[in-house]
Amino acid sequence: MIDSHCHLDLACFTDDLDAVIHRANERGVTRFLIPGIEPSHWLRQLQILNTFPQVDIAFGYHPYFLPHALCTSDIPKMIEHLAHWLERHPPLAVGEIGLDRTLSHPLAIQECIFVEQVKLAKTYSLPLVVHHRKSHDRLLGLLRQHQFDHGGVVHAFSGNSDIARAYIDLGFKLGVGGTITYPRGKKTLNSLLEVGIEHLVLETDSPDMPMSGRQGQRNMPEYLPDVLSVLSEALQMSPNVIEAQTDANYSATFLEPRRTAM
Ligand SMILES: [Zn+2]
Repeated sequence: MIDSHCHLDLACFTDDLDAVIHRANERGVTRFLIPGIEPSHWLRQLQILNTFPQVDIAFGYHPYFLPHALCTSDIPKMIEHLAHWLERHPPLAVGEIGLDRTLSHPLAIQECIFVEQVKLAKTYSLPLVVHHRKSHDRLLGLLRQHQFDHGGVVHAFSGNSDIARAYIDLGFKLGVGGTITYPRGKKTLNSLLEVGIEHLVLETDSPDMPMSGRQGQRNMPEYLPDVLSVLSEALQMSPNVIEAQTDANYSATFLEPRRTAM
């Protein structure tokens, strides 16, 4: 089973990362993608990558972690810096990038840095890890406008099945996490079931988005089987089948393109 989205580079994992990964392995979670959030964390991601062979990484500027009072004129330098990292330490993807209408950064500036990162992903033929919050309209519009065709994952997907299909048509997989373990996640679960498991990847978004029954606790990859069992029950399908399909989806998105490029 693969946790396609976990922020194991954050400080809350520094002291016991070894144990966190060990316990996840014991519960059948054998691979982890750590998305990038900002430059000071990219180095930590590299350290983790060099210590744990089951870890994959992506580099990018997460909208939540953009510098305070960011100006359009700062962006070229930031992009140059990211390009340098993509060049020197080729990751599996560009991300976590996206648009978040709940943040104080103006949407125009978020869009500017998002588009520049999409262009970089095109240049380096890399898929994306996409963050959304109240922003599907603009994300889909910009991905289409820039004819992005390297796919990726829309992390923590929520939305109706039309929106899900629009991303799938652009070559994206949808990230499924703790949301579906709550009764309020029923609508999202139904959209995901409608599009089918051939378009899904599993994720925890650790340390955030705790599973139902674990509210207030640090989320960890070892809880990923909770997501699998909700899917298994809803679909009346063996967990092994869902695990194999979602793992294959992860490989097709992140691992195979790199193998072909090598
Ligand atoms: Zn994230």
